[in-house]
Parts: sequence; structure tokens; C-alpha cells
Amino acid sequence: MTNDTRNFVIIGAGHASAQLCESLRRGGFKGRIILIGEETWLPYQRPPLSKSYLLGDFARERLFVKPQSFYDENDIKLHLGQPATKIDRAKKTVTVGNDLIAYDRLALLTGTRVRKLECPGAHLAGVHYVRGIDDIDGLEPAIPSAKAAVVIGGGYIGLEAAAVLRKKGLDVTVLHRSSRLLSRVASVETATFMQKLHEEEGVHVRLNQTVRSIEGAEKVERVEIEQTTTDHVEHSKRIEIPADLVVAGIGVLPNQCLASDAGLVTENGIVVDQFCRTADPDIFAAGDVAEHPHPPYGTLRLESVQNALDQAKACAAAMLDEAKPYTATPWFWSDQFDVKFQSAGLPQGYTASVWRAGDKPGSGSNWIYNNDQLICVEAINDPRAYMTGKRWLEGAVSPIADDLRNAEVGLKEVRTVNTGTP
Ligand code: NAP
Repeated sequence: MTNDTRNFVIIGAGHASAQLCESLRRGGFKGRIILIGEETWLPYQRPPLSKSYLLGDFARERLFVKPQSFYDENDIKLHLGQPATKIDRAKKTVTVGNDLIAYDRLALLTGTRVRKLECPGAHLAGVHYVRGIDDIDGLEPAIPSAKAAVVIGGGYIGLEAAAVLRKKGLDVTVLHRSSRLLSRVASVETATFMQKLHEEEGVHVRLNQTVRSIEGAEKVERVEIEQTTTDHVEHSKRIEIPADLVVAGIGVLPNQCLASDAGLVTENGIVVDQFCRTADPDIFAAGDVAEHPHPPYGTLRLESVQNALDQAKACAAAMLDEAKPYTATPWFWSDQFDVKFQSAGLPQGYTASVWRAGDKPGSGSNWIYNNDQLICVEAINDPRAYMTGKRWLEGAVSPIADDLRNAEVGLKEVRTVNTGTP
């Protein structure tokens, strides 16, 4: 039996929360852990949702980060299917339905929610989002009878969904608001590669598009866009794209209201320090919702599995009074058609990039620099380039760009210089 009578409460039941539970127990915490989640599901992984799960190649059971037995064996009390609605910091309680749950330490891992379309017709049947299991379970059965899909948003979600819909034989159009795909998350060079890939696979990619409305009597029948062209004067015309399915992937918003209502500082997320601590010594935040200092990038809110897992570990350490700064190099991956895209670092504010062909046809890597310092590597079907680049970034060394550019110089022979700032 334990003498530790403390209650550690976690709000949010996503990937980061499962990791936090594990890390707290591994770190020796013997008190009570209570996990509050709005959805009825055990914490699950989201990455397969827009890829293999939507394709029908991934059983639902495999989505769960840990089985029920993990929570039972580790004495973790699950409070699923109802949202937390209030934090009372003076009384140190969380309200869930009619229950008041007392906490000694509280972790806010509330994640993000999808940004919803606001155009006329956005409410029509046939308009789908890709965020949770329930979204996919609603979308997947609609695919076999559909002929044409319009995907709104050309980020990872939009492009991964487009690839699946195309593989399923639909006529697919991607409508993206800005002048290039993946505008928030990848370099111009990679975005251009991805656009070509999608177009070669038969996806119609339309950039600089404003969706005017989604039309249909009872369900989606077409999407109306406004296309603007400029010769000497600006012309704008309306175009109709037939669709019986619309999938929107237009970004996510941090779930920070609980925190801001409780008087915690929020900006683009719940503001924490490098140790996942808010200004309240008993409240912590991690994962997609946490805005944190992340040298050398400045202040970041990262939306990725890597961040969810690594930050949850840092959060556990801080909750156990063994705070370690969170400094992990961000990494991402995406599967689209037969391409595995992997990136390490962030392509923010870069001044130059070097493309290096890989060993196999159709493979290669984009090496992204801020002046002479490597800040990101993006690899297309080239795991060796990704692993090497990630190691260099973590070790604060930069490869000499001319060596990378030279196909005669093997990756192992590329010279590097110390930059001092990982
Ligand atoms: P995202 O990366 O924010 O991309 C959404 C894109 O949609 C933005 O580039 C945005 O354009 C565009 N957009 C916004 N409103 C639009 C509109 N009305 N019409 C047309 N385009 C519009 O987010 P996401 O792709 O929806 O992904 C959601 C979350 O899932 C993110 O956290 C993402 O990182 C995560 N995710 C990650 C992966 C991965 O790591 N492989 C895969 C799937 C999802 P602007 O650039 O002009 O704002």
C-alpha cells in the first residue's frame, strides 16, 4: 500500500496523456492518477486516422496507445466521455459534469480542435473533418458510393486524405488558400514536390482558391469557388466543382478556454516555460496545446506526435519536482501515395536550401539552412538522409552545403562544422 495520498489529475486523453501516465508511474509516483477525457475512447494515436485507418488497412484496436489493462494495472482512474468544464484554482478542483475532482497537481493536455468551415453550406451532409475516430468512422462509409471529392486545405491532413480518396478511385480536387501547399509546415521545395506527386497521381490541385459556398439540396453536390486572375486588371469568376464529398483540413485551434477561464496565461496556446510549468506552481501543460520556449526557434506550439510524447515526459518530470528542460528536435512524417516524407527541425525563416538526390529513383532530401546553419532536413523516401540530418541537428553540427550538393561525396563523407546551437 502507498502512503502517497496526492491526486494528480490530467485533463485531455490524447497521445500525450497516455505517455504522461506512463512517465509518472515510471518516475515513481505512487499517488492517484485521474485521467479526464471528453471522448469515450481510451487515448489513441491520430496519425493513422488520415492514412491507413481511413484506407481501411488499420484495425481500430491498434489505434489505442495502451490497452485498458495498462490503466487497470497502473491504478489510473479513467473519467471518459465527459468534458472538464471548470478549474477552480483556489479550491484546487476540476468540475466534470456534477463531479468535483480535487487535485494536488493538474496537467492540461487538452490538445486542439479542428477549425470549422464558415462558408454557406458548411453544415451540409457530406462535409467531413479528419480529427478523431468518430470523424473517420463517419467519413469512411461515405467513400464507396462517392465519385468526386473536394478537399479543402492543402496541409498534411488535406493531402493525406486526398491520397487516400484518390487511391479509392475518386476524382479528387484539393483547394488551397495560399500560393503553395503545406504552407505552414514544409519548405517551398518540398511543397512543389508534393504538388507534382499529387498531380501525377491524378489529383487536381488548385492554389489561391477562396471557397465561396458548398451547394446542395440535402447533401453536398458541388463547391463554388472564386478564382481571381490578373492581366492588366483583376478578373474574378465563379467556378463550380461537382462533389459528393467534402473533406476539410484547414488547421486546428488550441483548446485553451479552461485555462484562460481559470486565469492562466494563454496566447496561441497555454503558456508554459521550458519545463511545462504554467505560472501556477501546481498546473502544467504539454502537447499540442502548450506554447513553450524552444531555442533556437523562439516560442512554439507544436502539433505533432513527437512533441506530444517528449513534452509529456518533461511534464511528468516537472510534476515530480525533477524538472528537465524540453529541448527535443521537432520531427514529423507523412505518408502520401508511395512517398514517405520525414522531416527534422523546422523550415522557418530559411535563407537557402540544397536538394540532394537519394540512392533510389524518386528519393531525395532537401537540406534547409539559415545562412550556414542547418535548421531542417526534409527527406522523401530517404530515411538515411533523415536520420543523418536529425543527428546533425541534435549534435549542433551543420553539413557543408557544397559537399551535400556534390553527388560524388557520400553522405558519410560530407564535412560538418560545429554551430554550437542545436
Ligand atoms: P495545417 O497544417 O494548418 O494546414 C491547413 C491548411 O489549410 C493551411 O495551410 C491553410 O492555409 C489552409 N486553409 C485554411 N483555411 C482554408 C480555407 N478556407 N480554404 C482553403 N485552405 C485553407 O493543418 P491540417 O493539415 O488541417 O492538420 C491539422 C493538424 O493535424 C495539424 O496539427 C497537423 O500538424 C496535424 N497532422 C500532422 C500530420 C503529420 O505530421 N504527418 C498529418 C496529419 C495531420 P494557409 O497556409 O493559407 O493558412
